[in-house]
Amino acid sequence: MDQVDAVVIGAGVVGLAVARELSLQGLEVMVLESEHAIGTGTSSRNSEVIHAGIYYPAGSLKARLCVTGKEMLYAYCAERGVAHARLGKLIVATSPEQVGQLAAIQDRAAANGVQDLQVLSAAQARALEPDLQCHAALLSPSTGIVDSHGLMLALQGDMENAGGLLAVMSPVSSIGVGQGTASHALRVSTQDGIDLAARFVVNAAGLNAVPLAQRTQGMDTAAVPTAHYAKGNYFTLAGKAPFSHLIYPVPEAAGLGVHLTLDLGGQAKFGPDVQWVGDPTDLVVEASRGDAFYAEVRKYWPVLPDGALQAGYAGMRPKINGPAETAADFMVLGPQAHGVAGLVHLLGIESPGLTSALALAAEVRKRLGL
Ligand SMILES: Cc1cc2nc3c(=O)[nH]c(=O)nc-3n(C[C@H](O)[C@H](O)[C@H](O)COP(=O)(O)OP(=O)(O)OC[C@H]3O[C@@H](n4cnc5c(N)ncnc54)[C@H](O)[C@@H]3O)c2cc1C
Repeated sequence: MDQVDAVVIGAGVVGLAVARELSLQGLEVMVLESEHAIGTGTSSRNSEVIHAGIYYPAGSLKARLCVTGKEMLYAYCAERGVAHARLGKLIVATSPEQVGQLAAIQDRAAANGVQDLQVLSAAQARALEPDLQCHAALLSPSTGIVDSHGLMLALQGDMENAGGLLAVMSPVSSIGVGQGTASHALRVSTQDGIDLAARFVVNAAGLNAVPLAQRTQGMDTAAVPTAHYAKGNYFTLAGKAPFSHLIYPVPEAAGLGVHLTLDLGGQAKFGPDVQWVGDPTDLVVEASRGDAFYAEVRKYWPVLPDGALQAGYAGMRPKINGPAETAADFMVLGPQAHGVAGLVHLLGIESPGLTSALALAAEVRKRLGL
């Protein structure tokens, strides 16, 4: 059996950030990715927003890692030349009742260390965005967008420069505790029969992370949650974007509402909505879901023309709470939780996982005692 210091399972943005972090510690790292390339999973099917860290419960991993990760990400993008833009976002109250909710959002953000939100009157908001309809808004100046693929290429480059290796088309079938060698106790097996012994294993398999954690041989799996999946559908806007900031309604259950985001080319898209599904591979966007988008978007952009929205793409949220349950935090299931030295499972890494990737990687390193 070959041995390496560390195996990272999954080459999405989180796996690559972890692999980079561990490589920079001087460890020999092998990333095993089931697909033919990096970043073909959720990391390529999201809004590419650098979130400020506003909504998450104070003290949660999502709050802490988003706020820290945002600063790390802006600094990293600047240093490595990854395309990004600090556009700012407006959270809009589209009814008089929602105006009071803006203050609660501002308080929650402040508790998370996000102190720069500004309350805007309807007139102030319209001075920034003339086509916007709202009763009041919150401006978040630190929200931005990033080229997620450019980011992943930079992370991969750093990892490889530090001696790490990426193996694509290498689907991991199981993790075994105490099945490696005397010095490298963990074993990772791939579907095509490769066995690797490792001192450290990080499961960053995204939508497959929970099933893989449940299949870990020799680990108490009592703390591994049930996987749930919530599809997020996007509709793109034909023609010129009407806004220069990201526009978000006051959030709804399980998602952040049908918001408008811009890509680095200035193209606008609306979404994602929330559609709970049983099959994580179901990424088809049903055109009929667009009907609900028109109503939602017209709450803040009434002049959205009929027929302007086109079915775009969908991403799948790797949820660890069901539709009727409280939103779960990121779960970093490490030695402190399951008692196995050197092993971390990253579960429920939904939004803001892209923003948090570098901070999550630092968190994993700490949990591994490195
Ligand atoms: C609709 C939507 C919108 C979002 N918007 C934002 C946003 O604007 N900002 C933000 O910060 N976050 C956002 N997120 C969250 C963010 O996209 C994710 O948190 C992040 O991409 C997760 O990265 P990952 O590396 O954990 O997972 P993934 O990108 O899914 O990577 C996992 C990798 O593991 C591989 N894999 C799976 N099983 C195996 C196996 N057995 N063996 C080997 N490899 C395997 C997969 O092929 C994949 O490449 C959004 C998510 C969704 C769904």
